[in-house]
Amino acid sequence: MTITKTMVPYPIMPVPNEQTQPYWDGTREGKIMIQRCQKCGFYNHPPLYICINCKDRDAALVFEQVSGRGTIYTHYICHDNSIAGFENKVPYPVVIVELEEQKGLFIMSNLLNFEYDAYGSEIKPGMPVEPVFEKASETITVVQYQPATQRRPRQAAGSRGSRK
Ligand SMILES: [Zn+2]
Repeated sequence: MTITKTMVPYPIMPVPNEQTQPYWDGTREGKIMIQRCQKCGFYNHPPLYICINCKDRDAALVFEQVSGRGTIYTHYICHDNSIAGFENKVPYPVVIVELEEQKGLFIMSNLLNFEYDAYGSEIKPGMPVEPVFEKASETITVVQYQPATQRRPRQAAGSRGSRK
C-alpha cells in the first residue's frame, strides 16, 4: 500500500499563456477559476476561444471561481517510470475529478493523502474529494486533490454513497 503525500518538486512546470493565465493567477491565491460563458452559463475547462456549449462567437467568456469540490470520475495508478523527471515518483494516482458545478466539468489531478494498492482499487468513482493547492514554484501553484475532509452541507444524513 502506498500514500502519495505530495508531488513536489514538480519536474515539469506548466507554462501559462494568455488564455490560461487567469486560471494560474487563481490557483496562486488558493482559488479555482474556471472560464464561464456569460450567455449560457456553461463552464469551459480548459479555457477556449469560444463556448463549446452554445458556440456563440459574441458570448463573453469570464473566469469565475468554483467551489473546487467534486467527485472522482475515473483514475489510474501510474507505474510508468519512462516519463523524464517522474522516475522516482512512481507509483502515483492520476485522477479525473468531476466538479460539482457541472456534469462533465473535469480537472485532471493527482490524488494525495489516500492509501492505495497497485491498481488503486480503493479509489472509487463518486468518491468526494477536495482541492489541495501545491506551490510548485514562485509563480505556479498546482491544484491537487485529496479525499474530502468535510461532509458537504447539501448531503443529507443517510444519503452517503447513494449518488450513482
Ligand atoms: Zn455558451
